[in-house]
Amino acid sequence: MTSHTIGIDLGTTYSCVYTCSGGGERLIPAADGADLTPSVVYFEDDGSVSVGAEAKSHVQDDPDNVVVGIKRQMGREFPLQFGNEILTPEGISAVILKRLAKDASNALNCRTSDLKAVITVPAYFGVAEKEATHAAARIAGLECLELLAEPVAAGYAYGAHKDSTTTSLVFDLGGGTFDVAVIGIDQGTPRIWAVDGETRLGGLDWDARLTDILWEQIEHQSSDSEDLRADEEFVGELSAAAEQIKRQLSQSMSAPKTMRYGRQKFSLSVARGVFEEATRDLVLQCGQSVERVTAAARTLGAPHIGRALLVGGSTRMPMIRDYLARSLNLPVEINDPDKAVARGAAVLAEHLGRPTLINRPSEVERITPVLPRSIGLYIHSSCEPWRPEPYILSALTANTPLPIAHHEVSVATILHNQERARIRLYEQGGAVVSERPEDNRLIFDGEVSEIPQASGGSEIKLLISVGMDGRIAVTARSRKNKPLPMECFIEGVLDDSEVARQTQAVAGLILAD
Ligand code: AMP
Repeated sequence: MTSHTIGIDLGTTYSCVYTCSGGGERLIPAADGADLTPSVVYFEDDGSVSVGAEAKSHVQDDPDNVVVGIKRQMGREFPLQFGNEILTPEGISAVILKRLAKDASNALNCRTSDLKAVITVPAYFGVAEKEATHAAARIAGLECLELLAEPVAAGYAYGAHKDSTTTSLVFDLGGGTFDVAVIGIDQGTPRIWAVDGETRLGGLDWDARLTDILWEQIEHQSSDSEDLRADEEFVGELSAAAEQIKRQLSQSMSAPKTMRYGRQKFSLSVARGVFEEATRDLVLQCGQSVERVTAAARTLGAPHIGRALLVGGSTRMPMIRDYLARSLNLPVEINDPDKAVARGAAVLAEHLGRPTLINRPSEVERITPVLPRSIGLYIHSSCEPWRPEPYILSALTANTPLPIAHHEVSVATILHNQERARIRLYEQGGAVVSERPEDNRLIFDGEVSEIPQASGGSEIKLLISVGMDGRIAVTARSRKNKPLPMECFIEGVLDDSEVARQTQAVAGLILAD
């Protein structure tokens, strides 16, 4: 049986799968025939689990056993218990991946073990979130060829890697995350110039604002809104109604909706203008990332941006196009925005998964990705310059092209005859770089041993590498280049025993059709 390649957009609210195996691009539909699979998981009492539209239908009647938006928890400590099993975000994402892989194997008439996938992640995902996504694929038993940044995937889908004349702003607003990237050609090679974004900004936030508007209207019409707020089923219905109204407002200027609770009937209606006013700050938040990314790209020498490529279902909201046209004066291209990422991932998967044939020129010129956030080293204190307080010493700046091989940073021991040293790397936590440890996120915690005996100030060389998919590796050497052993912990990397535990827990679930 030959292998097949697929591209998976593992989204916060919806996931999508495409393939370019055996020629043209092709969407892999969900089991119910829909184009997209809601990224929702429902655990039933009998140990079976459903994913997608069926799972989403239980948000209202059994919310405690439904998981929505797990992507927002990737890379975080967020265990959830269902029956006797404790599942981590990696385990729950693995359940979604298993469903998507099963749909792909049905469509392609192969086993899931014959699939090779490129899985997309927001460009602005940090190290921990990427590691967690990688672990999810391992738990699902799905071969992951590479993790690909979503705007890069969109770049392939829109053909940005072939367009040598126009630099593009990729504006990717999905259900839960927002990425923005500048893509163009640098000395003949397609590259990302700069990325920015927010890992917790997306359609869900627009839904929440609409839900608030709907509650206000309900409170005006109801005598006992306290009861309504306590009723989980009604709360679930209302948030589903909010998403529907939001979609409707992308087509029309107002959206009416009737809801019932017992004998009460609520006539709700939201005008587009009211919705836009209530979410103006969210658009401005996107705008701040756009301003930062365009400034960063300009500093790095990117040519003038000539167009905006829209990606992600939330870019269907007219307020987004209005913002881009008004504030950036850019022509906007929008083409199947909720499938562009999966389509682009499939293009790369086919390129990576196909055996290399001699004399066949590569059909896909790879878009060089960049490091999304600066990485720095925790320095306890330093003499020159005199800095008695801990601070983060910048080691790699954001938007450095990937891969980065063995970037060398030197540190020194403090004590006489110090044999061991703790090495901590931090990733920029906020929108801008900061030297204060509390503004950064720990991503690597290691201990170097067997440091050659010397008086305080003995040099340790750290070699930092970052792969095409943003995963990090660090090794240490002595001043005389002798490799030094280092025990380390990378944030988001599950240890083998936890992967085995999650794999067993996920394998024990019966995936409902
Ligand atoms: P994605 O992750 O790219 O599939 O985007 C999903 C998000 O897009 C969800 O928050 C959807 O509610 C939102 N979305 C999809 N279609 C529309 C639409 N027509 N208008 C507004 N938002 C939409």
